[in-house]
Amino acid sequence: MDFPPSKLFSTIHELLIAQYDINRWHWQQSTPPFDICLGAILVQHTAWTNVEKALANLRAAGVWSLEAIQALAEDEIALLVRPVGTPLTKASRLQAFAALARDAGGLEALLQRPAGELRLLLLSTPGIGPETADAILLYAARAPVVVHDAYTERLCRRIGIGPEGNRYADWRTWLDAQLPPDGDLRRANHAAIVLHCKETCRVRPQCDVCPLAGLCAYGQGLTASLG
Ligand code: SF4
Repeated sequence: MDFPPSKLFSTIHELLIAQYDINRWHWQQSTPPFDICLGAILVQHTAWTNVEKALANLRAAGVWSLEAIQALAEDEIALLVRPVGTPLTKASRLQAFAALARDAGGLEALLQRPAGELRLLLLSTPGIGPETADAILLYAARAPVVVHDAYTERLCRRIGIGPEGNRYADWRTWLDAQLPPDGDLRRANHAAIVLHCKETCRVRPQCDVCPLAGLCAYGQGLTASLG
């Protein structure tokens, strides 16, 4: 199938949205921003199932506010977030985020900052890199930004699209140009790509059942690269 390059990404989006139930995505419109921010920080280098266990521990221990996170000793938080690995590091990152929110006048006030300003604040916080910052912007602050991650890169490389290299900033610029600045659409797009890469375009891709096979270079046998 041939698609004009400018239409290809939105065609991919439509095919994925038709295939996957994004109501299964862990962050929905009703998910509180607090849960999203903690999850975005804890999920670095681990699986979402481990994040769920750590969040459940925090909730069960009554450590379920930024004030409570700040009030507790770092090693006590570390015990609660052990399921996500590197618990002291993750505990320190949660406390750094809690301090950022406190200094901004609270989480709601922080998330209401203009997107560009909020992104800079997040990036200046220890342990928050571009992917985490953009996830917080898109899902917690509900700004119409894009999130780039390893799943997106794997999928795009296999299809045969995307910028050269793997610099986050280049991918962010490229993704931003592919979709209209519609937050709901961009949230759905990111969720659909992650679901697709977990269930179909896995490390060993299941091209025979893939809705994108007709437009994918790898799926058509045009490239042997697994990206
Ligand atoms: S055709 Fe194969 S490689 Fe291409 S997107 Fe689908 S599963 Fe991934």
